[in-house]
Amino acid sequence: MNLSEKDQLYNWHPYTQHKTTGLLPAIVKGDGALLWDENGKEYIDAIASWWVNPYGHSNKTIADAIYKQLTTLEHVLFGGFTNKPAVELAEKLLTILPQNQKKLFFSDNGSTAVEVALKAALQYNYNQGIIKTKVIAFEDAFHGDTFGAMASSGITFFTEAFKGSLLEVVRIPVPTKGNETNSLTAIESLIATGDFAAFIFEPLCQGAAGMVMYSAEVLDQMISLCQKHKVFTIADEVMTGFGKTGKTFASDYLVNKPDMLCLSKALTGGTIPMAITSFTQEIFDGFYHDDVNKALFHGHTFTANPTGCAAALASIAVLETQEMQDNIQRIHQKHLVFQEKIQQHPKVKTTRVLGVIFALEIITETQESYYGTMRNKLYNFFIANGVILRPVGNIVYILPPYIITEEQLNKVYAIVEQAVEMV
Ligand SMILES: *Cc1c(COP(=O)(O)O)cnc(C)c1O
Repeated sequence: MNLSEKDQLYNWHPYTQHKTTGLLPAIVKGDGALLWDENGKEYIDAIASWWVNPYGHSNKTIADAIYKQLTTLEHVLFGGFTNKPAVELAEKLLTILPQNQKKLFFSDNGSTAVEVALKAALQYNYNQGIIKTKVIAFEDAFHGDTFGAMASSGITFFTEAFKGSLLEVVRIPVPTKGNETNSLTAIESLIATGDFAAFIFEPLCQGAAGMVMYSAEVLDQMISLCQKHKVFTIADEVMTGFGKTGKTFASDYLVNKPDMLCLSKALTGGTIPMAITSFTQEIFDGFYHDDVNKALFHGHTFTANPTGCAAALASIAVLETQEMQDNIQRIHQKHLVFQEKIQQHPKVKTTRVLGVIFALEIITETQESYYGTMRNKLYNFFIANGVILRPVGNIVYILPPYIITEEQLNKVYAIVEQAVEMV
């Protein structure tokens, strides 16, 4: 048996109906934007492996930093101890995060980063004897698959089975172009009830919804409303962080800075699972007390793992090089040129670009479901042609690693054009 066949025997994959899914390609090697499977077939990773890998596969700088840390101190518990990479990473991050961010809490993945933010918002109020138990989130949001994160997520396709067991989250419309007033009115009337501890959002771009975008201006207005009524704002930058939107964080486009940020995905350049939730001093101070019970009793075994922190430090250093900043601008400019061309196509409904993110919607007669027929047809076409893209319903998006070459990116565009033609 080859790897794909053995995998089918033993493994249970994420978001996968195994009855209708065939053998999955077994990837054995990666270099830059390229991956190879066990049969030697080459793929362009045009979504940076679920948005985690902007600096390319098998990045030498990050790998060297990991090796050095592994052979110095691979892990030490963060309960009762600290470690050098964790301190250095915190020091570094606080210089690049919005200036109101003062304290970092480590965890392991995007969902846990969101859990920590939600728990902090609820307990901050509880510690003061204030009962605020609900959360505001956008329709079609995605914040992860643990219970709090799932409750905040609006893609019901993922969460239907757990409806009765979730934190109370009220959803408001996404303020896409033309819907700003609806959205603002909705949040204003919710906030007025005084029941809400937090408003969580994916700033400027909802990734899993299919790169749905909205303006910084309207988000600024929403944050301002929350600030007036002491509703904490949580920017889930798990997808948008580390350059994807053209700035280091999507929150850098905002005048009113969120109270908390959630980071993961590209934090370690796609090497070691790690996440961080960052906080204002005000939130931290809400837990700072003589009473031990007012502390944030949350933690994960691998919290602030030194090897993960070393990987994150090296990744941020790579992001900050002129070469990587130029790459981000180069991809952005190329996306704009491709957008100009493809938006004329009679089968294309809309296109949108933000930083290195490109998305187009194909015109359909019926509402396409998340993992529907059109999506599967497109996906299979891309894989057959050696390009990894995961369409969402009728939406095709590209989020390439920053180091993708001109030639590789041109091939991705060409395959997308062919796909639009085909459906
Ligand atoms: C992927 C994602 C998450 C969840 O991260 P995991 O590491 O998969 O738990 C949360 N929020 C956003 C915006 C994401 O894109």
